[in-house]
Formats: sequence, C-alpha cells, structure tokens
Amino acid sequence: MKTYFRLLSFAKPIEKFAIPYILFTLLYVVFSTSVLGLLGPLLNTLFHVGACKCDPQAIPVKASDISTFDVSGWFKYYTNHFIALYGEWGALKFVCGVIVCAVFLGNIFRYLSQRIMESLRIHTLLKIRKAVFDNVMNLHMGYFSNERKGDIMSKIASEVQTVQFSVTGTLQVVFKEPLLLIGYLIWLFVISAKLTLISLLIIPIAGFFISRIVKKLRSQAVAAQNSYANMISYLDEALSGIKIIKAFNATDFIIKRFDDENIRFSKITRAMSKRQQLASPVSEALSVSMISFVVLYGGYLIFNKKSDLDAGQFIAYIALFSQLMRPAKAIGDAFSNIHSGLVAGERILALIDEKPQIVDAPDAVVVDDFKEGIHLENVSFAYNEREVLKNVNLTLPKGKTIALVGPSGGGKSTMMDLLPRFIEPKSGRILVDDHDIQQIKTTSLRGLMGFVNQESILFNDTIFNNIAFGKIGVTQEEVEAAARIANAHNFILETDNGYETNIGDRGTKLSGGQRQRICIARAVLNNPPIMLLDEATSALDTESEKLVQDALNNLMKNRTSLIIAHRLSTIQNADLIIVLEDGTVVEQGSHLELLANNGLYRRLIDMQTFTG
Ligand code: ADP
Ligand code: MG
Repeated sequence: MKTYFRLLSFAKPIEKFAIPYILFTLLYVVFSTSVLGLLGPLLNTLFHVGACKCDPQAIPVKASDISTFDVSGWFKYYTNHFIALYGEWGALKFVCGVIVCAVFLGNIFRYLSQRIMESLRIHTLLKIRKAVFDNVMNLHMGYFSNERKGDIMSKIASEVQTVQFSVTGTLQVVFKEPLLLIGYLIWLFVISAKLTLISLLIIPIAGFFISRIVKKLRSQAVAAQNSYANMISYLDEALSGIKIIKAFNATDFIIKRFDDENIRFSKITRAMSKRQQLASPVSEALSVSMISFVVLYGGYLIFNKKSDLDAGQFIAYIALFSQLMRPAKAIGDAFSNIHSGLVAGERILALIDEKPQIVDAPDAVVVDDFKEGIHLENVSFAYNEREVLKNVNLTLPKGKTIALVGPSGGGKSTMMDLLPRFIEPKSGRILVDDHDIQQIKTTSLRGLMGFVNQESILFNDTIFNNIAFGKIGVTQEEVEAAARIANAHNFILETDNGYETNIGDRGTKLSGGQRQRICIARAVLNNPPIMLLDEATSALDTESEKLVQDALNNLMKNRTSLIIAHRLSTIQNADLIIVLEDGTVVEQGSHLELLANNGLYRRLIDMQTFTG
C-alpha cells in the first residue's frame, strides 16, 4: 500500500486532477445508472402494466406521496402525467427522450473523466521517469561499477510502463468502479431491498475465489522483472560487443545465453498470465451464477406473492444486477494486475531512493581558478577490502607536466579518479590550492579539469556537437580552433559533411586516432587549467599515436597536466615523474634523476627499450 501511495504521489498536484475527475465520474454514474433504473417504468408503460391510463388506481395520486429520493417513483409520476396529457405514444417518446439524454450526458461525462485520468497517468509517468533518470545521473561512479547497466535501462524503459498499466490503471478502478457499484446498489435497494440484501451475501464467496487466484502473482512478478532486466543486460552487452562476439565465433554462445533467459522469462509470464487470465472467466462464471440465483430467488418471491415487484421492475432489477458485476469484475481484475505494477514500482522507487555517496558539503565553495597546486596528504583508497593506494603524499605543482608511471594495476588510474572526486579516499585528504576538495562544489571542481581517456567516449551525434559537448552558445570558429589544436581539422573537412557529419554510435564511423583527436578537441574547447590524461594513446597504432601525441602536446601547453602514459618515451620531458607500485610512490623526480636512481623506473625503461 505504501508503494502504491508513493507512486501516486508523483501525480502531484493530485487535486488538480482528482476533483474534476470525481465530479465528472459522479455525474456519469448518476446518468448511466438512471438509464437502467428507468427501464422498469418504460417497460411498464409499454406493456400497460401497473400505471397507465386504463388503470387510474395505480397512478401515484399526489406528488407529496412520493419520497424525495424515490427517483423511479417520480419518473412514474411524471410519466403518468404525460400519459394523461399527451397519450401513451407521447409518453413513450418522452421516456425514450429522457433515456437518450441521460445516456448522452452520461457518456459526455465519462469521456471528460477519462480524459482527466489519461492526463493524470501521463503526467505521473513523466514525473516518475524524470525522477529516475535525474537520480541515476546524480549517482556516484561506484554505483555503476556495482550495478548492471541493463538493470537500470530496464527500469527506466519498461518497468515505468508496467507501473502505468497496473498502478495508474487501478486509479481509474479505485475512483470510478466503487462509485458505479454504489450507484447500482442504490438503485437495487430502491427497487427491492430484500432481494438486494440476500444477493449481496454471495459477494464474499466470489472475493474468496479471486483472492486465491491472485495470491502467487507477486513473487512471479518479481521473477519476471528480474528476468527481463537480465535480458536487457544481455542485449546491451551483445550489441556493444558485437565485433568481439563475431571475432571469437561466440555468436552461438551469446545467442544461447539470450535464448535461455528469453525462455525463462516466457515461462514465468506464461505462468503469470495463466493465473491472471483465470480471474476473468472465474468471475464471469460466478457472476452468471449470481444472476441466475437472483432470477430464481426473485421469481420465488413473486410466485409466492412475498414481493410487490412488477414485471418492469424485475427486469430492470436483473439488468441492473448484471451491470453490477462489471465494476465488481473490474475491481477484481485490477487486483490481479496490480502486483506486477507494485513490484515494478518498488524496483523503480529503490532506484529513486538510491543516494549518491559523493555529495557536496553543505558549505561547499565554488572555486573557479587554480593558483598553486594539488596536494595529496596521506591518501589511502580501497575497493571494498583491497587497498589500492597506501598513504600517498604528493604535490602536483601548477603549470607543470607530471607523469604517473608504474606497473599495470599499481593504482595509477585510481589515483587520477580521486582528483575529480569520482571516488572518495578512505583516509587522508586532497587539496586544490588550500581547499579540501570535499569542501568544493563538485561541478566547479570538475570544471577545473579536463579528461582524455584510453577509450574515446563519443556520442551518436555530429562532430560539431561532440566537440561542443554540453556547452551552450559555442561558435563554429571556436570549435574549428579547438579542432586545429587537436590536429583534427583536416580529417574533419575530409568527412562527408565536415563538422556536420554524424559519427555513429560511440563514433564507430571514425578511426581510433580520429576519435581520440575529437576527444582532445573537446577538452581543448573546454580550456580547463588542469588536464588529466589516462593512457590517451595506448589504443592507437604508431602513426595515429604520433598525431594524437602532437595534439596532446598542444593540449598540455600552458596547463597543469597529469599524464598516465604506457609509452615511457613520451613522458621523458615531463617536469616530474612519479613511479607508483602497489599503491605506493616508490620514486619521483625528473627523467634523468630517476635513471640515475637505478630503481623501478630504470627497469621499466630498460624493459621498453628491449621490447620495442
Ligand atoms: P592502473 O595503475 O593500471 O591504472 P588501477 O588504478 O586501474 O591500476 O587499478 C588498481 C587496482 O584496483 C587493480 O588491482 C584493479 O584490479 C583494482 N580495481 C580497479 N577498479 C576497480 C573497481 N571498480 N573495483 C574493484 N577493484 C578495482
Ligand atoms: Mg589504468
């Protein structure tokens, strides 16, 4: 129930929708139930039963005899008046006219109420989807390495939809069907209280059967959604790794993995729908039995003169009673469907509730210039229990080029990730000038830094937009200037549409070196004082490596740069080289100093000269 109301709370301001909705629904209920209630007098008029000109006794003589709420009494009264005035044919026309008007109005109000409900549903979905995506974008990096992308995608893409179909779908049921039910019940009581009381005794029995059916649905819904999320994960991995899958002839393996999950999902949904679908025929059968019971019992009352129901009333009663089953059934169906919606809702809410672990301190300051340097003081970091950085003390002075080298797995990338606060040190602190980075607003901290990684992260968009990425009001000249610095201008002009060329998913239409130069242009355009380069050339062939290296050298001019380079020859001119091994700084100094040191750096250099 809590989940349900929280999901509903996304419909804020709900009064805006609820008040007119309830109003229109009430009007709809009044008009549509009246039509059936009026059926009795209509039939009586037609077949000369009870009140008519030839039987003046049956006419309710005075208006004061009829109680204010006895609608059918009033109807009868006026019908008879009409008969007296215009004759039977005229009265029939009048009755039909009233019924047509009532149906017409009833349906107008139904349409209006449905429109409101639809916009409420769409509005709620919009809000939920936005809340999920906003929150996902604000989560810390660590979350994404622990969660599967497919899981998140399935939540935003399909589970929100499930919520629409069941949770907001039940809204309609919650507001409308009980009103209809009450409307019909009032009419039934008006026609015959006795018959109604007895017939209602059967409802708990129907309720029992339905609840038996929907019992297991919840656990099945959980399993179904997990399985669906797995499928999306597999799909995502298969699409992004399609080249490798083909290269390793692993298509069959991948197909089988997807197939197995697909089959599992189908099995669960089949089992679920078996139950869900069962609810309908069962309640159908129950309702027909109930109607038969009412006919039997009503007939018994009439035969034995225990009731003063006339033919018209009895037929109207049965018609009303059969209509009563519709809202009752709708309520039952909604209950059998709501489970999948609630389960999806819970999963979505869990994602919305996930708190980012790296947030701005309440008194965080904005820092927009960089004056002196970055300092690491006793910084340690661990992934879970594994220590990756141990008590690192370092100074990265402004305006210098600093290189991080060391064996793979030594913690270089981890150290670089600490600076923009992608991850948080376990102990110790990091200072930019004299501000602890935990006291700086992350947006302004990250604004000081530019990034170029080993994998070029590009988007399926034009070259221009990939370079201008996220910046507003960038001119063509600025983008071109950045591209020139990044050695990219010439190749961009050679593409089909120049800067307007679409580069495909993740930039697949470009070569690795070209992609990387676009990433560099993007960093140049941003013009941050600090550059972080993590093995920016390691994925490239020698020729494009040279072009990219030139671009990088341009990029690093007049900046503070921290570089992780796989090829040590490229960082020999660095002002400071830091050698990191197993999470500790084992050496630091200039190239010549370190060579003279005869330590790890020298061994690494020798290894590279030897291998090539
Ligand atoms: P490198 O010096 O090669 O850049 P990294 O900083 O990437 O090394 O990694 C340092 C160590 O941390 C490695 O042993 C790696 O296995 C581990 N590691 C890196 N990222 C994660 C992660 N997200 N979760 C757990 N361990 C990680
Ligand atoms: Mg690395």
